[in-house]
Amino acid sequence: MSLAELINHHLGHTVELRHRLHQIPEVRYEEFQTCAAIRAELDRLGIKYIDGVEGAPTATIAWLGDQSKGCIALRADIDALPICEATGLPYASTHPGRMHACGHDGHSANLLGVAAMLKSLEPKLPVCVKLIWQPAEEGGAGAAKLVEAGVLDGRIGPKVQAIFGLHGWPGLKVGLVSTKPGPLLAATDNFTIQFHGRGGHAAYPHLGRDPIAAMASAIVNLQQVASRDVDPTDPAVVTVGIVIGGTAINVIPDVAEFSGTARSLNAPMRKTLRQSMQRRCAGIAAAHDCELNFIWEEGYPPTTNDPAMADYVSRIARQTLGEKNFIPTARPSMGGEDFSYYLEKIPGCFFFVGVEPVDVNGYPSLHSDKYDFTDEALRVAMRMFGEIVMGWPAR
Ligand SMILES: [Zn+2]
Ligand SMILES: [Zn+2]
Repeated sequence: MSLAELINHHLGHTVELRHRLHQIPEVRYEEFQTCAAIRAELDRLGIKYIDGVEGAPTATIAWLGDQSKGCIALRADIDALPICEATGLPYASTHPGRMHACGHDGHSANLLGVAAMLKSLEPKLPVCVKLIWQPAEEGGAGAAKLVEAGVLDGRIGPKVQAIFGLHGWPGLKVGLVSTKPGPLLAATDNFTIQFHGRGGHAAYPHLGRDPIAAMASAIVNLQQVASRDVDPTDPAVVTVGIVIGGTAINVIPDVAEFSGTARSLNAPMRKTLRQSMQRRCAGIAAAHDCELNFIWEEGYPPTTNDPAMADYVSRIARQTLGEKNFIPTARPSMGGEDFSYYLEKIPGCFFFVGVEPVDVNGYPSLHSDKYDFTDEALRVAMRMFGEIVMGWPAR
């Protein structure tokens, strides 16, 4: 059977699997029902797997084919978000306050569909294929745990030469695939900035040191990091999302703080943002005679596609789906992905698969309580992973 025929054969069951996973969303590192469902399906297919790794018990890793031919990996993330679902779908979440709002149910079911196809093609596979169901993409850096445990370097299964991952993408119509070489998604560093002053009566500010005035000045001043301290042609984002300070209208508090996220597409820019923010806040703290506590939490690295691998994926998409159905990504997105941890170690490509139905205008965004990975996108996702494997140059 050809890949197209195999997809016709397996698509219905893969859609059912997605709906089943959609009903049991679990957040980072708590994906026990999800991984049980994934492993039950692998049992049914007769595919052996590894149950979890150090620090990530809900990971599932399998491989198919002849290891002497080299090995490439396909990755799906399995976790959901702490969101109350409002889709009204018949297969909506049965876990209150949990939802597959990033479509990882689609990614996980897709890889199961691909596993079923590859199993029937096993003797013909041009390369060994490692299948990775990874927990905790949403803020838990599950990918980093798997890399540390040895999922790429040969300590868990065969050593991996190249890795591929995909994300369902609103704003792209079903049937379209998109990616680009180089940076695709941003680094996601977080900061908390505290000003420690001296509290007192609001009517006698000269007797205290007001941390709220310092904080307000800093929030306004940090808007100039992106506009004055960095090359305007190199993207950077500094967004303050949380502000905390004070308890009463007539009291100057001791402490005021704010937190947010800093996004960038490369290591030098990451460093620049951190240094620029710290320098500006230190100056403002000094001006207000407050103490500064500058806390920087490193998040995911930028997701940077290997140029040759991005070229390979775009060639596969053009050949399989038709010239007009591959859309080169014009600009990177400032969202983040922990797929970046794999790409720091080995070449690979992360790409987008359209989920917006052809007759719909304006699909709910990722992390919206109305988002759903469209069933019809599974056909494209299965085809892309299948072709990436079958098109791999045999050695
Ligand atoms: Zn997400
Ligand atoms: Zn996601």
